[in-house]
Amino acid sequence: MIPQDILHKIDEHHCRYVEQLFGFLRIPSVSTYPQHAHDIRIAAEWVLDHLDLLGFEANLIETGGPPVVLAKRCPHPAKPTILIYGHYDVQPAEPLAEWTTPPFEPGIREGFLYARGASDDKGQFFTYLKAIEAILKVAGELPVNVKVLVEGEEEIGSPQLAHVLDRYRSELRADAVAISDGSQFDSQTPAITYGLRGLAYLQLDIEGPRFDLHSGSFGGLVANPVQVLADLLARLKNPDGTVAIPGFYDDVLNLEPWEREEMASLPFNEAALREYLGVVELVGESSHTPMERKTARPTLDVNGIWGGFSGEGAKTIIPARAGAKVSMRLVPNQSSARVNELFKVFIQTMAPRGVKVHIKELQGSDPVLVSRDQRTVQAATRAIRIGFGNAPVFIREGGSIPVVTLFKTVLGVDSLLLGWGRPDDGAHSPNERFCLEDFRRGIRTAAALLYELAS
Ligand SMILES: [Zn+2]
Repeated sequence: MIPQDILHKIDEHHCRYVEQLFGFLRIPSVSTYPQHAHDIRIAAEWVLDHLDLLGFEANLIETGGPPVVLAKRCPHPAKPTILIYGHYDVQPAEPLAEWTTPPFEPGIREGFLYARGASDDKGQFFTYLKAIEAILKVAGELPVNVKVLVEGEEEIGSPQLAHVLDRYRSELRADAVAISDGSQFDSQTPAITYGLRGLAYLQLDIEGPRFDLHSGSFGGLVANPVQVLADLLARLKNPDGTVAIPGFYDDVLNLEPWEREEMASLPFNEAALREYLGVVELVGESSHTPMERKTARPTLDVNGIWGGFSGEGAKTIIPARAGAKVSMRLVPNQSSARVNELFKVFIQTMAPRGVKVHIKELQGSDPVLVSRDQRTVQAATRAIRIGFGNAPVFIREGGSIPVVTLFKTVLGVDSLLLGWGRPDDGAHSPNERFCLEDFRRGIRTAAALLYELAS
């Protein structure tokens, strides 16, 4: 159990921690723009220096792109090791006109800190550095071994991370990964995320005649790629909202009765969600609740579609080609490789004569489900109770976090997904913010976690 002195120290130094976080947030480390490459490096070095000052053995790993910061302080050979993951890169801030205060000039309004990266992920990651600092100041040494991995290209899909994990596999060995890069269930309810959906994301291209044809001269002779595409897409789902691809549900792990009961007990307001989304009705599998459908059931969505002439005026053609992007969110125990295969087979058997159909895999990640009986999950539960003052709920997340899958597949280690943020922090949006109270509770919880993991 964490000594009270440490929690007091954290509360006492709150203003200084916020001031330091301001420094981190002022660096416009936008990973997607090449013109910010210099800022990316400054942010990496900022993290490196901070870990260095905390007495960590810290190094920059060059990847050809944004460097990875890797650090460790491992004073107890016989005790568990926790790997803390974060990212120092941020999303672009545009549209700038929608920010009340400039995105890289942090400001405080009504208990919230506003800046790009405040919640995602600089503010949340920084809680661990301050927790470590407070522990070292009061207790002199950490209660467990701590390794830290901070990357600078999470917002562009972590293209180098698999390679880095593979290369530093032995240095990164740990009993659990802690990731705070998400949110609580709501502002009153902290959460531990124990499940994530996976992703199968494909592009479908239909190729017809060599060029757009006069629909009068050639109509009735050739297959129309737009029509073919529409027919194929329409066949992907049944009228009841289920996915029609044969075998799609074969590997789906159904929700346990206790899990359905637990989900039903979460404070979920359907009317408020409808209002927020601006839709008159929520739709989907009638056998499952909205909460189940958005987190623990697989989906298929057409994300975009193109082809032919859609400008103003008239152009009567048979288009030469058409295309669409389709994403499927997967649940345990589906695999993106197998679902991609099923999708391809289904489309190829349905494709009519007269066109060529090309299918390209764009992105994929497998779903994740962490066993809640683990010692590390129980330690995190106790830590949240100490840090936040109330117990967490256990939730599944509808989105995908590819790094979690990577930690599992490359390092063989489960992640603790402990979001300190809130669903309305505006990550990736204008006026991103982080509640100062969440920042304080995050530091307290991070510190308590290290003690709970040690016991
Ligand atoms: Zn993030």
